[in-house]
This record gives sequence, C-alpha cells and structure tokens, in this order.
Amino acid sequence: MINLIFLGPPGSGKGTQAKIISQKLSLPIISTGDILREETNKKSKIGLEASSYMDAGQLVPDEVVISIIEGKISTSEYDNGFIMDGFPRNAIQAQKLDMMLKSLNRKIDLVLELEIETEILIERMLARFTCGNCGEIYNKLSKKPQKKNICDICGSSNFIFRKDDNEEVIRSRQEVYHSTAKDLVEFYLTKGLIYKLDASESSSFITEKILGQINNVTQNSN
Ligand code: AMP
Repeated sequence: MINLIFLGPPGSGKGTQAKIISQKLSLPIISTGDILREETNKKSKIGLEASSYMDAGQLVPDEVVISIIEGKISTSEYDNGFIMDGFPRNAIQAQKLDMMLKSLNRKIDLVLELEIETEILIERMLARFTCGNCGEIYNKLSKKPQKKNICDICGSSNFIFRKDDNEEVIRSRQEVYHSTAKDLVEFYLTKGLIYKLDASESSSFITEKILGQINNVTQNSN
C-alpha cells in the first residue's frame, strides 16, 4: 500500500503525472478539483457553493473540501492506497488529513512536489485542453491529438478548455498557490516526506523519477 500526494502550482503537470502513475500502479486518484467540477456540473449544493470560488480562482472553504475527503478516504476503494491531486492545499487541510489518516491507522508515504516558474506555467495553461468524453489531457504546445480534433484515446471530437484557464484567473490561482504552499511544503518537509521535481523536464523523465522514488520508499518501508 502506498499513499501519495502531488503538490505543485496549477499547471505544473500534477494531474498528468497523477494519471500516469495511477495507471502504472493501479492506484486510485482523489482529485478535489475534479470532484468539485463534477459537483458544479450536477448543480449540487456543494457544487453551487464551490462554483463562485472556483470561477474566481480562489480556494473553496476548507470545511467543504475536508468533508469531501472525509467521505472518500475511509471507503474500501482506497484500501490499497491513493494518489491525492489538489488536496491538501494549505497547512490546515494537511493537518486535518493527517488526523483522518491516523484514525484509520494510515499515513502519507511520499509527497511529490513539482516546481516550475510562473511565466512558463501561464503559457502552458493557456494552451491546455481535455477530451470532454474520456478526460485525456492535451496541450496545443506540447501534446496535440495525433489526428486533428480527434481524441487519441476514445475518438471523440468533444474537446473542452477549462473555464478557469483564462489569464486573469490563472494569475490569481498562481498567487493563491504561492501564498499557501510555503506552510504546506514546510509541514511535509519537517516529516521528511518531500521529493522535489523540476516540472520543466519532459513528462516521461518526470514519470521515471517519480517511479524511482516510489521504489525507494517502498523498499525502505519493507
Ligand atoms: P484544480 O483542478 O486542482 O486546479 O482545482 C480547481 C479549483 O477547485 C481551485 O482553483 C479551487 O477553487 C478548487 N479546489 C480544488 N481543490 C481544492 C482544495 N484542496 N481546497 C480548496 N479549493 C480547492
């Protein structure tokens, strides 16, 4: 069993790496951003509460995301471990997660922190889009579909750009990340769990480094 967290500013490739590692190791992903987007589309109570914060690039209140995680983490789906993408986002969420895991006799094994310059990120995020059918992530600069307008995975032509991927909201999301990330990284640094990665490297290189580190951690814990 291994419990992983991906940290890094929006657009650093967390979601992409989380998906790759999830497939390679058959580990389920818990992405608060994806869950909140689903809730918003369903127009549920949580979705309606979250959408104004999300549209402005601000963090949704801690109680909302913490209750989402509480509902998920104790279910049998995550018995063999999980990958968290987008949670925790600040030290309060990290402390709360620690308490929840302790009560389940579990812990975080590794925190992967993707680092990259803001200006590179903004260029990347303005270019990213996903398949509206299967969720495959693309980028106009670095990963176009092999056949124009056709998803490589499922053949759909329904591509979507995220509503919060416009420059003003992107800049605000970067500021939000940097204002809360320091405490968060510090929290996991003191526990000796952080492994830093240069997110400007190629995706396959980063994946190899992550797999290598997961190997180190699992071997050391045996
Ligand atoms: P993401 O897909 O991770 O970039 O998240 C998109 C948006 O969802 C963020 O800009 C926040 O508004 C909200 N969100 C996702 N995860 C969290 C979290 N852990 N805490 C607060 N807000 C979150």
